[in-house]
Formats: sequence, C-alpha cells, structure tokens
Amino acid sequence: MGTLVMKFGGTSVGSVEALTSAVDIVMQYKDEWQRLVVVVSAMAGVTNALIEAARSAERGDAERYKQIHTELLERHGDVIETLVKSAEVRQSLLAQVEEMLEGFANARVVAALLRERSAESEAVDATQLIVTDDRFQDAVPKREVTCKLVRKHLEPLLKKGLIPVVTGFIAATEDGATTPLGRGGSDYTAAILGDCLDADEVWTWTDVDGVMSADPRLVAGARVIPKLSYNEVSELAYFGARVLHPKTIRPIVERGIPLWVKNTFNPEVPGTLVVADPKNGNGNIKAVTAIENLSMITVQGMGMLGVPGIAARTFAAVARQGVSVLMISQASSEQSICFIIPMEAVAQVMAAVEDELAVELARRDVDKVWSMDDVVIVSAVGAGLRSTPGIAARIFGALGRAQINVVAIAQGSSECSLSFLVGAGDAAQAVQSIHEEVIVNG
Ligand code: ADP
Ligand code: MG
Repeated sequence: MGTLVMKFGGTSVGSVEALTSAVDIVMQYKDEWQRLVVVVSAMAGVTNALIEAARSAERGDAERYKQIHTELLERHGDVIETLVKSAEVRQSLLAQVEEMLEGFANARVVAALLRERSAESEAVDATQLIVTDDRFQDAVPKREVTCKLVRKHLEPLLKKGLIPVVTGFIAATEDGATTPLGRGGSDYTAAILGDCLDADEVWTWTDVDGVMSADPRLVAGARVIPKLSYNEVSELAYFGARVLHPKTIRPIVERGIPLWVKNTFNPEVPGTLVVADPKNGNGNIKAVTAIENLSMITVQGMGMLGVPGIAARTFAAVARQGVSVLMISQASSEQSICFIIPMEAVAQVMAAVEDELAVELARRDVDKVWSMDDVVIVSAVGAGLRSTPGIAARIFGALGRAQINVVAIAQGSSECSLSFLVGAGDAAQAVQSIHEEVIVNG
C-alpha cells in the first residue's frame, strides 16, 4: 500500500493507557503501508520553560512537568485575561494555549515509545513544516511553501523507512513565529500532510467509534455512521459535532483523499469513512447536532423597513468585534433582524450594535436591541433533506409532541441541514426526540 497519515487526538494521547493503544496501533499498521506519518496533538518547546518541561516529562519527572505546565498556563492566562478585551477571543486563546501545553511533549514520547519497540521513528516539529500567514487567531496555511517543506523534511525520513511523528496543531509564520491552527488544529495538520505527501488515506483516531448520528454523550442510542460525504461531514462539524472541524478537512477534500475516523480505544471496529460521493449518500438524515451557549440578538423596530442599510451596518458592527455570527434568522415579523452569536460575546455585541444604530434608536426607527441568552442551535444534517418530502414536518411534529418551543428557525446556507433554535433547557430533549424520529425510526 501507499502513503498513510494517522492522527491521534488529544484524548488518544492523554493517558498511559491511551498512549499505549496509540503506539500499538502504529505498530499494527506500519508494515501494511509503504510510508506512514503520525500526527499527535503536541507542541515543541518555544521557550526554555517548555523545553525544560519536555525534558522532565521524558525523564519521567511528572511532578516537575506538571508544575511547569501549571505555571505556564497561569502565566499565559494572566496575560490573556489582562490584555485581551474581547471575551470571545480571550476564551478561544485560553483554550488554544491549554491545548498547546497539554500536548507539547507527546510527539517526542510517541517517537521514543516506537523506537523502544524497534520501529525507527523521529519526532518532527510542525513549525518546521507548516507555514501560515500571521493571523494568530485563525492562521491560514500557505500551501505551496508548506508542501515544499513537508517534502523536504519528511521524504528523506520516509525513504529510510522511518516513521515521522509530527506535532499537531501548531505551525509558524515565515518569520518563525509560532501560530496555532485553531480549533481541531491537529486534524488540520494531518490533512495538510496528507495533501502535501499525496497520501492515499488519512485516518484520525479519537475516543469514539467514528462520526456518530448524535453526540454519544447526549444520546445513548447514537450510532456510528459508516459512510459520509465531505459535504455532510462539513455540515455536521459546522453545527457542533466536534469530532471533526470543517476547515480541517479541506485540504483532503480538494484532493479527494478518503478519510477514516476511528477509535483508539476500540481499534477493531472500522469507524466512519468520509469520501466525496458515498454510494449510499441519498435519502436520509444522518445526524442530529447541537451548539450550546449561544445568544440570539434581535434588532427590532417599525421604522426599519424605511431605512436602508440597517442590516449591513448591524452585521458590520458585529464583525468589527471579531465575533462570528453562527446564523441569521427571520423572526415573526419583517421589522426585525435576528442573529445568533456565542453567549460570551453578547454584552460586547449589544453595545456595538446600539452604538452603530444610535441615531435610529434615538429617532425610534429602531425600537430596541435585545438578546435572548442561553439558547442552542439544533440541526438535522443529511443530504436526504433535499430530496425527501415531509422531513421538516416530521421534525417539527416530534418537537411538538415533546412540547418543545422552537424559538426561531434558521436556514443554513447549504441544502443538507435544517436548523432551529431552542432554549438550553430543551436542547437535550430536542436532540433526543429528533434522533428518535428521523434516525432510529428513520
Ligand atoms: P480528539 O481529541 O480525538 O480530536 P475531540 O474531543 O475533538 O477528540 O472529538 C471527539 C468527541 O466529539 C467525542 O468524544 C464526542 O463526545 C464528540 N462528538 C460530538 N458530536 C459527535 C458526533 N456526532 N459523532 C462523534 N463524536 C461526537
Ligand atoms: Mg478534535
């Protein structure tokens, strides 16, 4: 067989048991593939402290490692809390720093464990391979220069029959500044390497049996989806199934490289295959997802119809806060604009919108800007939505029977999802009822 890129997620390298399974898996498959590259959620040392922590971890000095880890987290946390104004950016930065620190020693550990089992292996720092622009929050890889570096550094190792173990999640700018690849960044690393190395397959190992019909922590009867199209998985990921991040699969989608999602803790089950056009791709809803901790902001006023540009200015004001709008929806009347944002940004966004519309508010063209907090977007995803009549009716029927009040219905941009908003208290029941109606009884 040809070239395989395997990625182990945070949960797959987070404990002794997990690391052991991960290494077992690499050992099991290494002889079946001519070229094998492993990606683990990790970060190499960018400061002396990080390097020291990595060394103490390698020495097995877990106490010192933990201590440094905590110190670093606190130090970054202090700076971020003090300096970053946007709550959303703060939250996302803290999560990224945490993710970087959590994993930074793992590539070395995995490579060392493989060598102990006589599999030639070398840890490779992804900052040497993946070049991005300098948008720290949302760094975008530069494909051409990245692929050159990937081939330059990895092909000689692969030719010698070595297994490169690459740190996931991080990259660097052309000037050498470290950039995180954002949420789900290690998946992205694997997809980029798959693209650059012209891989035959990319496998991501996680802690569930594959992409499932609902978050298994929410729906006991969730099932593994054996096959999905790229479109469906993007939609699923966008609407909250954090098992894969939408952006991360783009490099392999463009090349049509098959992607498997598999379980590190249950490697015998095949998992989910994601391909361009699965033969079973029609007819059904594949999954139900939820995104929590959101707010709906409504801009409302009888005079709005006569004033051009209010929507554009509202969304421009939101965009200036660096907050992304998850969904735009039409409420009951035409004299309002509703949109959904992460709840942590609500105060900031409300203030920005009120500021932008100050004149209209004073003139009473806009009556008020108000928010409904703690709402959840629930989505049904599947290519079949397009072609199956009556699905929407069944979904809303199920919600009605469960006495769930639908706050708003939102039209996604694609044709393979149907989304709506419910209160946080109804979210689990909504997901379960819809799952029962269109998947279990589907
Ligand atoms: P990793 O560290 O391997 O990248 P993640 O935590 O990013 O793992 O993603 C796996 C988790 O995604 C699972 O543990 C599961 O709880 C959650 N999840 C949410 N929705 C789904 C879904 N539809 N299918 C599978 N997993 C899901
Ligand atoms: Mg992940």
